[in-house]
Amino acid sequence: MDSEADAFYRELPKVELHAHLNGSVSVQTIEKLLVRKPHLNVERSMTAIGKGQRRTLDECFQVFKVIHQLVDTEEDILMVATDVIKEFAADGVKYLELRSTPREEKNTGLTKKRYVETVLKAIQQCRNEDVDIDVRFLVAIDRRNGAQVAMETVKLAEEFMLSSDGLVVGIDLSGDPTVGHGKDLLPALQSAKNCGLKLSLHLSEVLSQLEETDLLLDLPPDRIGHGTFLHPEVGGSEDLVQKVLKNNIPLELCLTSNVKGQTVPCYAKHHFNHWYQLGHPCVICTDDKGVFATDLSQEYQLAASTFGLSREAVWKLSHQAIDCTFAPDAVKQQLRNKWAELKPQVFQ
Ligand code: 5GP
Repeated sequence: MDSEADAFYRELPKVELHAHLNGSVSVQTIEKLLVRKPHLNVERSMTAIGKGQRRTLDECFQVFKVIHQLVDTEEDILMVATDVIKEFAADGVKYLELRSTPREEKNTGLTKKRYVETVLKAIQQCRNEDVDIDVRFLVAIDRRNGAQVAMETVKLAEEFMLSSDGLVVGIDLSGDPTVGHGKDLLPALQSAKNCGLKLSLHLSEVLSQLEETDLLLDLPPDRIGHGTFLHPEVGGSEDLVQKVLKNNIPLELCLTSNVKGQTVPCYAKHHFNHWYQLGHPCVICTDDKGVFATDLSQEYQLAASTFGLSREAVWKLSHQAIDCTFAPDAVKQQLRNKWAELKPQVFQ
């Protein structure tokens, strides 16, 4: 990035809606974890995919397994979550919805409940330190773990939605898209919706999911993660596109993640353009800023340079993302006020 453009994108107030906690761990935090766990013999190259490198989606999921080995105690989670929140804040993110899969680790005594409590503690600590970012949490269902765990995860999320003073706002469905079928998870997702949790679902991340996507779109979800293969030009269908348009379901789009994970061939062919041209709500996100070695400023700049967006258009994109958050209306209004306050400074 050239330095002048760099400053514009960094100063731009941003909303991040698709960030997996353990995929967002920076090199600096990985270093600290490596010092804590030298016996694991993990090398830095095993936890991130550098510039110009690509991996298959399957290889990306192997990377998460390595990071999970490094992050397996309450202490680790607290450090990782605090660092990730502060890094997003330093990148100009004013509102963040972090997502993570609660894990239980027999070796360290970590439970799923403590996992969520620890992430919430990190959010609270950052608030107490006046870090300039509003953070909410989505409890993630890993589709690999099947229907029963999905239902338990929803119960856990519901408990925290009721007790966390608005910090837990929804459910994420993620995990290896080639494993399992969404129809088995429908009861859990429906029950989440019934109790007032918002739904952000990874949909059509790979081509083989047309039937599943069709089924899950009928819920309908409140947001879609990726949606790479929804439109007919890449093997999706007009019916799927119409369902998304009819329900006006925002898309969380992660350019570098999709290019490095090889689900799109190059930036210029990213489906952002398809949906943006339709005027559909698109939110630029990082997905896994640590693993894919990026940040949100860079993702905005990549979208702008690839698709020829003016600075005013970029501003509009970041402003419209506020409407797509799962925050209460009063918080959305506060964010709009903040954007209005910051605009002269960003465009000076
Ligand atoms: P965590 O939930 O442990 O905080 O973050 C890592 C997890 O997020 C991964 O194990 C995986 O379940 C999910 N994840 C991260 N990035 C992606 C992605 O691009 N696609 C899907 N489907 N899941 C992802």
